[in-house]
Amino acid sequence: MKMPQFDYACPSSLEEAIQLLSDNEGAKVLSGGQSLLPLLAFRMAQPTLLVDIQKLAGMDRIEISADGLRVGARVRWCQIEDDKRLATAHPLFQFMINHVAHYQIRNRGTVGGSLAHADPSAEMPGVARVCDCDIVAVGNAGERVIKAADFFVAALETSLQEDEIITEVRFPPWPSGRRWAFHEFARRRGDFAIAGVAVFFDIGSDGVIADAHVGVIGAGDTPIRLDAVEQLLNGQRLDEELIGRARHLASETVDPQSDIHAAGDYRKSLVGTLTARGLRDAASSGAVK
Ligand SMILES: Cc1cc2nc3c(=O)[nH]c(=O)nc-3n(C[C@H](O)[C@H](O)[C@H](O)COP(=O)(O)OP(=O)(O)OC[C@H]3O[C@@H](n4cnc5c(N)ncnc54)[C@H](O)[C@@H]3O)c2cc1C
Repeated sequence: MKMPQFDYACPSSLEEAIQLLSDNEGAKVLSGGQSLLPLLAFRMAQPTLLVDIQKLAGMDRIEISADGLRVGARVRWCQIEDDKRLATAHPLFQFMINHVAHYQIRNRGTVGGSLAHADPSAEMPGVARVCDCDIVAVGNAGERVIKAADFFVAALETSLQEDEIITEVRFPPWPSGRRWAFHEFARRRGDFAIAGVAVFFDIGSDGVIADAHVGVIGAGDTPIRLDAVEQLLNGQRLDEELIGRARHLASETVDPQSDIHAAGDYRKSLVGTLTARGLRDAASSGAVK
């Protein structure tokens, strides 16, 4: 199908971009275009104006400090893949992003675009949710720092205002020695996940689990955290009996819908399997490659 007609602007400052969004009802930000352009081609979006943010300064950097990670909204998937510092600064983030789409799409798609698009099967919203990230957005009313838990409202829906632009995402520090794993199942590598599970936790000197995080993509309207499973794990020693209970609880906690890709019951079972697999891998090696 042909794309609908729209105007195009490529402002050189954030202020100008925000003004264009507020002055033009139905205007949309254009970043990597890898989700928006297919939507236009299918006429599932009909914006009056595209505000291209490619010239906005300072949004294409990954900064690492003792306070954690700051990832600019225009950082592309391939930058994350190629950044050798991330192997220690945030291995889970880098590993999850390796699962995003195909080579060509990873050259264009961006962190901010994926967060704003809010596909419940996408890796970036999932990693933001499981890592308790802050999402920074700027609009006419100034800067807002939005917790990932409050950012994703429903499938393809966020708490962003129409005039707001995501500028960066902030990750809490990642302690060395943290155990982690990510597993997803997709029909072909690079496809959106049917479901995926990220787990991480620390092991104290007493050998028990502390600060367990378990996040799921593809099994709800938004990326989710499995609070009940986290509570089950915290303060326990990880053994096969605990993994079995976590697997069962994870599966029981989610309530995914059926769609053309998979039945809800299949996704429920998959979440349990991936949780068990993730816990075993995290415990034994701290990394899954
Ligand atoms: C064939 C194919 C397979 C894919 N597979 C996967 C996959 O496996 N996993 C995955 O996660 N993704 C996948 N994607 C999506 C891809 O990762 C996109 O790049 C990403 O979802 C959107 O990023 P973008 O920069 O291209 O955003 P765009 O397409 O430019 O924009 C997407 C939406 O976000 C808004 N937006 C963009 N930037 C901002 C900003 N800074 N502030 C506010 N709003 C903004 C736009 O207005 C639009 O509504 C796939 C895409 C395709 C075409």
